[in-house]
Amino acid sequence: MRADVVVVGAGLAGLRCAQVLAGAGRDVVVLEASDGVGGRIRTDRVDGFLVDRGFQLLNPAYPAVRRWVDVDALHLQPFGAGVAARTENGMDVLGHPLRSPALVPATLRTAARRPKEVAALARWAAPLLRPRRTTELSDVLERRADVDRRTALDGAGVDGLLRRVVDRFFAGVLLEDDGTTADRFALLLTWMFVRGVPALPRDGMQALPEQLAATLGDRVRLGQPVRRVTGTSVQTDDGTWAADHVVVATGAPEAAELTGVPVPPTKGVVTVWWSAPTAPDTDLLHVDARQTPVGPLVNAAVVSRAAPSYAPPGRYLVQGSALLGPSGAPDTDEMRRHAGDLLGVDPTRWEVVVRHEVPHALPAQPAPFSATRPVRHGDVVVCGDHRDTGSIQGALVSGQRAADALLEGRR
Ligand SMILES: Cc1cc2nc3c(=O)[nH]c(=O)nc-3n(C[C@H](O)[C@H](O)[C@H](O)COP(=O)(O)OP(=O)(O)OC[C@H]3O[C@@H](n4cnc5c(N)ncnc54)[C@H](O)[C@@H]3O)c2cc1C
Repeated sequence: MRADVVVVGAGLAGLRCAQVLAGAGRDVVVLEASDGVGGRIRTDRVDGFLVDRGFQLLNPAYPAVRRWVDVDALHLQPFGAGVAARTENGMDVLGHPLRSPALVPATLRTAARRPKEVAALARWAAPLLRPRRTTELSDVLERRADVDRRTALDGAGVDGLLRRVVDRFFAGVLLEDDGTTADRFALLLTWMFVRGVPALPRDGMQALPEQLAATLGDRVRLGQPVRRVTGTSVQTDDGTWAADHVVVATGAPEAAELTGVPVPPTKGVVTVWWSAPTAPDTDLLHVDARQTPVGPLVNAAVVSRAAPSYAPPGRYLVQGSALLGPSGAPDTDEMRRHAGDLLGVDPTRWEVVVRHEVPHALPAQPAPFSATRPVRHGDVVVCGDHRDTGSIQGALVSGQRAADALLEGRR
């Protein structure tokens, strides 16, 4: 079996890489171990619900998404542009003033009680106000001390309720609750959140990789786990592929195993999805901003309030997510109690739709920040979010970089 390029893995990185190479006239084949495309972005239909394998959102402001994805075809259903924070005294709301005008009064009430906290948060985020393009943003970030986000937030004097909201919000986004992620990455994500409202496609998150895969047709082969990569040959259970080039576009642990490339450690998450007969009218992400959280969740949301296509008529889809650390995952009942508490409702009539544990959900992004790791590793080219940033943006960009590296080498 022969191809110009064999790409191992049909996640976003592998699909983007193959798309570019095929567009440049290369004979490409994508070998995917599992039964579908998308890698960490898969969606199942269960009892009329759409459930993504781990709660995640697509930010249409990601430059790679704007450039390479037909966003309109995804029929995005936006989440509310804000966060609802459970406090010792009830619920506080913080919204984006331009994107969620309805949240302005509640946001102003929250802010007016804490002028010092607001000023400190503004100090931390001030560098984000000026840049309009990602290139300008990169310049701004490069001038900023390359420390972890805890050091940066402490340095700006961010404390109190707003600090807890920021910390718990990022715990859900970065899957890290000790502040060790690079501040530059936290700022980069904040800049994206200010520019776009994260959303869910009408047909589930997997619609995104499906769209990329559709341009590749039968070049994508499913159920083809690659056992070994040696130079430019690739061994599967069906035989050996010979190629001019091999691109390993797997997640970090498999890339290390197949190529020996050094990879960052990974962070895990557990998401439980429930079917609820009734649900509060909120399309926001809810976090626990009490000094001592009363449960394990980093966030909870009534997903189908924001994305109605995710639930059948007469039911609501609720999710709760918690970190999956070395000490294991919290149990489902504990998560349900906490989700009910965060949303301010009694969860006893909720039924579990499915529980997902994703041990390698995201690569760690500690300081010093490294957004661009080399894609060449000996004879092999390696891509995936662990080469760029742990995100949809990072995975797509890494795939593009891998393809560019091969095309430039050829030129
Ligand atoms: C629960 C969760 C929540 C997230 N939330 C967000 C979010 O809100 N926003 C955001 O931007 N990002 C989020 N992410 C991150 C984002 O989904 C990933 O960064 C991105 O999908 C990674 O794509 P990838 O192509 O690099 O790797 P993967 O998606 O991991 O693709 C690798 C592919 O390689 C295949 N493979 C592995 N080994 C082999 C082998 N030996 N042979 C053949 N194939 C193999 C795998 O089956 C897989 O299909 C989240 C991720 C998870 C899991």
